[in-house]
Amino acid sequence: RRANIKRRSKIPATTVDGVTIKLMGNIELAEEIVSVMDYGGEGIGLFRTEFQYLSRSHFPTEEELYEQYREVAELIFPEPVVIRTLDINGDKALAYARENDEENPALGLRAIRFCLQRPDVFMTQLRGILRAAAFGNVRVMFPMISGVEEVLEAKKMLKEAAAQLEAEGIPYSENFEIGIMVEVPSAVVMAERLADEVDFFSIGTNDLTQYTLAIDRGNRKVAHLYNSLHPAVLRMIKQVVDVGKKHGVKVCICGEMASEPANMPVLLGMELDELSMTPQSLPMVKEMVRGLSFSESRKFAARVLEATTVDGVTSMMDEFVYPEE
Ligand code: PEP
Ligand code: MG
Repeated sequence: RRANIKRRSKIPATTVDGVTIKLMGNIELAEEIVSVMDYGGEGIGLFRTEFQYLSRSHFPTEEELYEQYREVAELIFPEPVVIRTLDINGDKALAYARENDEENPALGLRAIRFCLQRPDVFMTQLRGILRAAAFGNVRVMFPMISGVEEVLEAKKMLKEAAAQLEAEGIPYSENFEIGIMVEVPSAVVMAERLADEVDFFSIGTNDLTQYTLAIDRGNRKVAHLYNSLHPAVLRMIKQVVDVGKKHGVKVCICGEMASEPANMPVLLGMELDELSMTPQSLPMVKEMVRGLSFSESRKFAARVLEATTVDGVTSMMDEFVYPEE
C-alpha cells in the first residue's frame, strides 16, 4: 500500500471536487532536494539556510552561499525555492557569534533581529541569494518578522545588495517574490499592513504556537501543552488567510503542522494556498487531500473554528476522519 501511495505522489493534490493545493517540501541541505522530488513535492516551500552557518566555526563566504543557493535553484527549477534568510540563535545557537549569551534566546537577538544588527553578515547572504536568483525560480523570505519596520529595513538592504552587485557588474536578479514568516503574534495583528509590503506570507506554526501560547517549543515539561491545534492558533491562521485573500497575498504554512495528514481537512478548509512540509510526509498528505472534498472541508473548518478547547478541536477532527467509530 505504501508503495502505491508513493507512486501516486507524483499526481497533484486535487480534492474530489477539483480544488488543487500546492504541496512543497522543507529542506535544510541541498542534498534533501532529491527526497522532495522523489516524494512528489512541487518546489521547496522552506529552505532553512542555517545549516551552512551552524556546521562550521566561522561565517560562510558569499561564494559558498551563492554556490549552494544556485545549486538548489537549478535543481528544483522550474518549481520555486523559498530561501529563508538566516534564522539563527533562539533554538539554533551560533557558537562563534558573540551575541549568543542570552537568558531568553527565543525572545532574544535571533533571525531577522540578528541580521539587521549584523549588516555585514546579512549583506553577504543577500548578495548570495540575489546572484543565485539569476539561475532559477527563487523567492526570498524573512523570518521572525514582528512588525512593518523590520520588513522595510530588510527590503532596503536587499535593494542595497542589488545596487552593489549592479555597480560591480556581477550577474544577479531581483525579479522575485518577497515574503515573510508569520510566526510572531504581532505579525498576525499587523498582517493587514504587512500585506502591503510582501507577495506572500508563510505561517511558521512551530514558533507561532510557541509565542502565542507562551510555551517553549523545546521544553519537555510543557510539551503536553504545546499544540498547534489550539483554538487561538487556528483562529490566527484563519485571520492571516483572510487578510491574504483580501490583499492578493498568497498564504502558506511551513510549520510542522502541515506535515500531519490528519490536519488536512482543517487546513484545506481554511483555504491555505500552499503547504510545505517534511519531504517524507508528502505522499501521505497528498493521499489525504485527494480523498477530501473542498466544500465539505470548508464547512468543517468553519465549525472547528468555533471550538474553544484543544480537545474540542481534536475530537471534531477524529470524528470527521473516522465517522463510524
Ligand atoms: C516555524 O517556526 O514553524 C518554522 C517553520 O520555522 P522553524 O521551525 O525553522 O523555526
Ligand atoms: Mg520559526
